[in-house]
Amino acid sequence: MSRRDKTDFQHLLAHTHDAVVILAEDDCILYANHAAEALFGLSANDLVGRHVDLHAADTGHVVIHRGAGDDSHAEARTIEVTWDGHKAHALLLADATGLHRAQQRLRQAVKMEAIGRLTASVAHDFNNKLTIINGFTRVALTQVKDDDPLHESLEEVARAAAHSAEMISELLTLARPQSPDLQPARLKQLLTAMAPSLERLLGEHIDVTVELAADIGSIRAEPVQFEQAVNNLATNARDAMEGRGKLGLSGENVHVSEAEAVEHSAAAGEYVRLSITDNGFGMDEAVCKQIFEPFFTTKSSGKGTGLGLAMVNSFVVGNDGYIRVESDPGKGTTFHLYFPRAADAAESEAETALPASSYESERANGEVILIAEDEPAVRNLLIRVLQTCGYEVIAGADGAEALRKAQDFQGHIDLLITDVVMPNTCGRTLAEKLRGIRPKTKVIYISGYAQGIIDADTAAREGALLIQKPFSPDHLLATVRQILAAAQTPAA
Ligand code: ADP
Ligand code: MG
Repeated sequence: MSRRDKTDFQHLLAHTHDAVVILAEDDCILYANHAAEALFGLSANDLVGRHVDLHAADTGHVVIHRGAGDDSHAEARTIEVTWDGHKAHALLLADATGLHRAQQRLRQAVKMEAIGRLTASVAHDFNNKLTIINGFTRVALTQVKDDDPLHESLEEVARAAAHSAEMISELLTLARPQSPDLQPARLKQLLTAMAPSLERLLGEHIDVTVELAADIGSIRAEPVQFEQAVNNLATNARDAMEGRGKLGLSGENVHVSEAEAVEHSAAAGEYVRLSITDNGFGMDEAVCKQIFEPFFTTKSSGKGTGLGLAMVNSFVVGNDGYIRVESDPGKGTTFHLYFPRAADAAESEAETALPASSYESERANGEVILIAEDEPAVRNLLIRVLQTCGYEVIAGADGAEALRKAQDFQGHIDLLITDVVMPNTCGRTLAEKLRGIRPKTKVIYISGYAQGIIDADTAAREGALLIQKPFSPDHLLATVRQILAAAQTPAA
């Protein structure tokens, strides 16, 4: 090839869309075009004269390791050429990084869907059982003196039940789609609300610092899920620091450019970023690549479930955000959570949290409560807890029976507590029929997570409240008090 021809040839290569690399017989790079610079993350000057992980024989799918878990993918074809009078190979590399990422996300989505279906199918029964275990243990605890040897055993059962409830709720977060009409919440408030539980979780040997930009914006995320996500990250940090170290939480508003957004399949624009940093043992690249996989754990069995980060990821992505991880073995880890910034929440937004309550302390004034629940153990639990607190209880095993009892009952009925899914007459039909004969009776729905038949907003539009299984007696009583208190102060 003449000098002139070579210049023309290089000019042509420089402007082709695909990456082109010319390899000598010993695989040393003789030439790399612009597109190759992008694919390798190195300048042509740095590439020429080097050996990379490419060989003339490479065809089909090749992976280019750019370091720090940042791989490029390409489809390769090889052509024999003559370069400066010597035999050489031209590797044509079509960038397939985007395609590869999309395929991985699809695989992940399919897996999540399978997990979701599996979870949904067991969640209903499992939640019923947990409600019973937890509820009756709490009831039993109130009847056993603190110094009774049984007390400690019951506390253990209660703790295990609470832990199981957490696990199932993590699994369910993986499966549950994000509700679209959530109110925006200020990140500051979300974090402040959970500070006490975070401190308890981390113990006294971990220093926690929180640094939030003064102008930090709002995000649209369900507070309970948000708290669970931060708790999961904090628990992992605690484990990585072996109970001793520094945990930093920081938050600020950031602008995400088109280039960065594309990498994470997100939209460019304004985000609120929450960063959680620990100085624990960190992760190597191989671990880093798998951490969001459900059931991936490096912890001994009984300690890790491998669900924590899968839940966090599913929560953040479900909110149209994404996660970036920085970690070095021995140096610690930072998780950056990006949430799309929402129009700011009003400062005085109504508090949705339930008033704190103590099961033993407050007693009812003999209000009458009608219960409809087909699961006998849950029904018995409801009766037991409510009666213990001084409510009068009428109960039916399904909607039809509850309705019959309501028709026969002579006095005033203050409240209906009904399961949403029951044989014969379902919860909402029962509530509607009851409203026909007793318009003043308030309604609380009890629902399993996976049923998706009614959510808190739908309930609220009917003036009702919603309790999700598994629920604790405290939560039940707080909700009952809340709705009965509202009934006593009618709107003007
Ligand atoms: P689990 O905590 O049950 O193992 P996770 O999904 O929460 O499951 O985490 C998966 C794995 O990711 C952990 O087992 C651990 O190897 C790694 N990991 C997560 N967070 C950190 C961290 N802050 N520092 C070091 N390793 C971490
Ligand atoms: Mg974890």
